[in-house]
Amino acid sequence: MVNHAFEDQQGGLWLALNGHGILRVDVPSQLSYYEHQLGLEGSVRDMIRFEGSFYVATGSGLFVLEHQPIMPNRERRTRFMRIPDVPQTWSFSVIENQLYVTSEGGIYRIQGNQVRRVSDKAGFVLVALQGTPHQRYLGTYDGLEIVNAEGPAWVSERAAVDVNQVRSIIEEADGTLWMGSIDGTVTRVENLFSEHLNIQSYGEENGLPAHPAFLEKIKDDLVVSTRAGIYRYVAGNEASNQFVLDPTLVPPASSAADSILAFEPDAAGDLWVARPDGVHIGRLQADGSYDFESPPALQFDLHLFPQIYVEPDGVAWIGHGNELIRYDAHIEKTYNAPYQAAIREVVDMRSRRTMYGGMGAAAASRLSSEGIAYDDNTLEFQYAAPTYNRPEETQYQYFLEGKDEDWSGWTAQTSKTYPSLREGNYRFRVRAVNGQGIYGEEAVLNFRILPPWYRTWWAFSLYFVMLISALVLGHRYQVAVTESRKAQEHAEELARERMVNERLQEVNLRLQEANESLLQANRLKDEFLANTSHELRTPLTAILGFTSIMRDEAEGQHREFLDLISSNGERLLTTVNSLLDLARIRAGMITLSNEVTNVNTQVVNVVRLLSPLAKQKNLIFTLTVKDDPLYARLDPHYLDRILYNIIGNAIKFTEEGRVEVEVGLEDAMVVVQVLDTGVGISEAFMPELFVEFQQESTGFGRSHEGSGLGLAITSHLVNLMGGEIDVESTKGAGSIFTVRLPQNYGESVEEEVGMTA
Ligand code: ADP
Repeated sequence: MVNHAFEDQQGGLWLALNGHGILRVDVPSQLSYYEHQLGLEGSVRDMIRFEGSFYVATGSGLFVLEHQPIMPNRERRTRFMRIPDVPQTWSFSVIENQLYVTSEGGIYRIQGNQVRRVSDKAGFVLVALQGTPHQRYLGTYDGLEIVNAEGPAWVSERAAVDVNQVRSIIEEADGTLWMGSIDGTVTRVENLFSEHLNIQSYGEENGLPAHPAFLEKIKDDLVVSTRAGIYRYVAGNEASNQFVLDPTLVPPASSAADSILAFEPDAAGDLWVARPDGVHIGRLQADGSYDFESPPALQFDLHLFPQIYVEPDGVAWIGHGNELIRYDAHIEKTYNAPYQAAIREVVDMRSRRTMYGGMGAAAASRLSSEGIAYDDNTLEFQYAAPTYNRPEETQYQYFLEGKDEDWSGWTAQTSKTYPSLREGNYRFRVRAVNGQGIYGEEAVLNFRILPPWYRTWWAFSLYFVMLISALVLGHRYQVAVTESRKAQEHAEELARERMVNERLQEVNLRLQEANESLLQANRLKDEFLANTSHELRTPLTAILGFTSIMRDEAEGQHREFLDLISSNGERLLTTVNSLLDLARIRAGMITLSNEVTNVNTQVVNVVRLLSPLAKQKNLIFTLTVKDDPLYARLDPHYLDRILYNIIGNAIKFTEEGRVEVEVGLEDAMVVVQVLDTGVGISEAFMPELFVEFQQESTGFGRSHEGSGLGLAITSHLVNLMGGEIDVESTKGAGSIFTVRLPQNYGESVEEEVGMTA
């Protein structure tokens, strides 16, 4: 029972059966199938159309195709009817307009749906004898029977020819008889009915293969059809191979030599050749050659030896086992209908999820617009081609653009898996070629695999942002580090400064304290000096005064003693004065006057004062005045003191010779030079010369009196006046002391002198 019917584009009728699945019916079809459901039983051995009826001989009996109701009052059906009482049959023969069939039970004459057994001789093939109307040959299991067909019951006689299962017999015009055997031999019989009987057997040594041999006559040639090819008999070639393989009688590309399953010349002269891949027709050409064609409808697998029967109108019947196939090329049917490959499903093999179900443009376009998640990237593509003639022969070729370099090889596989596709755009293409060699249109599916999240643009943006942030942070960190270092340095500097300030303050404080104590000390010193000068000088003056009075009155030894007291007192007073002077100078307590002084007069006075001493020592004592008058702005008191000291020293330290004093003006400096020829000063003592209390000869052995304060005071005074003092001396030869004092200490001397003059 059919629940639903649907017709496809290639003329196929799809029927949804009630409980029996789906059936596709090729309508209209060039092929019709008959088997036991249509009344046919047993393996098909021969077919014939005779007087309008179609008969089939099978291993089960004899059948005729009828068109009538199966049961009374039901619609008429085309089906096979068994003609009863006939055992397994072999082949039909038409002799003198009568139809016969050979069988295991003998030979039957067929008239309509009736049969009559004319002979009980079992055999395979029955042929008429030329020239003798009532005689026939019957090929049997072991040879040849010669049958006399006169009268209702035929009488047969065994011929003296032994052949194993005669399946085909051909009689030539001269009466020569050929027989094909199941064991592959071909037997030739001449002069069967005379004493010159000649039987020739051909086998492998004559070029034939060891396969059942069936004889055919094509034009005038004898042809042997075997499974291993079609052989032609070449007469007059007794010595060598008389049967030669003829490749022109089989379709080209009969690669396997043993691939001929059936060979049937038809009435039109065409050859029907069955191979395992189907039935091919060699159309007879004008030049006698054959042009083979392979009707698509007949290209189905054959695995048994089929029987082929071609009716005069071209309708062919192919018996194949228990099945009978009718082929009608007149029915218009194209097996070249265009078709298109189809992508049935796209499945991710890991999740087993369907990405695309094979239908709908929207679903397909979503694959490229929305894309497929990266997790679903192990894709299996299932494809098909709706071409239904011999679908098992359809071959496919695929090409995944974006992954494959080129189209794959042709394969019968209907799926292809691509594991772990990377993100990107792809185009899956698949195309097919069917058993007829017709290429279908290709199916295309565009799709896109999305990148995994870590390779998306926003992930990359994130990486970029992170990188920039890292750089910025790094930079900020560096800046912060630098700044904090700077701040630290600054703080340290501030701390240092603060510390220095504190120290400074401390030092200041100390300085203040020191200052104060210094001021205090100064005050104390001043007081001390004042007290000392008063306390020392007052008694000394008294002592000297009273000594002087007493000396005038004393006589003799007392007077000498008083002289000593007086001179020593004078000396002590000088020393005390010198000490006080020095102390005052060092304490900065003296103030120099700055008055115009006649230097020459001062020098002359000092020289005059000291000349008695020089005279005492018999020294030549000279004064040279280089510039006269010579005025300078000086303190005359202290100038005296300087002159007195150095001229006094010169006299004091010179025992013989001379002391020369020279005074003059050089470069606005008053220069006083004192030369002596005295003891001189050693080099070693030079640095000590102007230091207080230093004398070259010391202790009790010293040669001259003195306190060692004179030069110290002199040098201090010269310095205070803005001048300098110089010494040149040779031990034992003498010394030169030079004092240089600025003429104009303060204002110009000349102007003032000029005005007073
Ligand atoms: P005093 O003469 O009272 O010892 P001075 O200060 O005047 O003290 O002299 C210091 C020393 O310098 C003297 O003791 C002496 O050794 C040396 N001196 C000074 N003038 C001369 C000189 N003209 N010749 C040699 N030695 C001298």
